[in-house]
Amino acid sequence: MAVTDKIYVKNHRQVVSQLDVNFPKGAFSGATLDVLFGGGALEALDDATAERVLEFSKDFLDCDCQSNPYCGHPERKFVAYLLDLRAQGLTPESMVDVMSDDYMVYAYPGDLYGFLDDAVRTLDAVEDLAHVDGRNEAARRAATARDEIEGR
Ligand SMILES: [Zn+2]
Repeated sequence: MAVTDKIYVKNHRQVVSQLDVNFPKGAFSGATLDVLFGGGALEALDDATAERVLEFSKDFLDCDCQSNPYCGHPERKFVAYLLDLRAQGLTPESMVDVMSDDYMVYAYPGDLYGFLDDAVRTLDAVEDLAHVDGRNEAARRAATARDEIEGR
């Protein structure tokens, strides 16, 4: 399961009751992207919620793909956001606080630890492969990204 399958809408029940439309708790579920982040929901929401929903849409759902929001870019942009928070030195616990402040979504720190471990393993593999192929620049980039995740 991708980490984006483990990102949840905060205050889900209140948001559902404000909208008067049900949608899943998973922030990247298709129905949530449509109902909550699709742009039609803002007027029904209180200001603080509407502001964060709008930020989420602007930051992750802003591509022009025909299949938006099902083109995969929202998930990829969110993963980049997580890696960027980590590169700033945040622990998974603080990453949860920041994403809640920024976008009113949350995750369980344990899932973020798992995600970061996987990312480190993937980058290790990328680095090894690049060395084998003699692609030194790619190997160096993978190593730098891994060091950022590991907080070196
Ligand atoms: Zn796209």
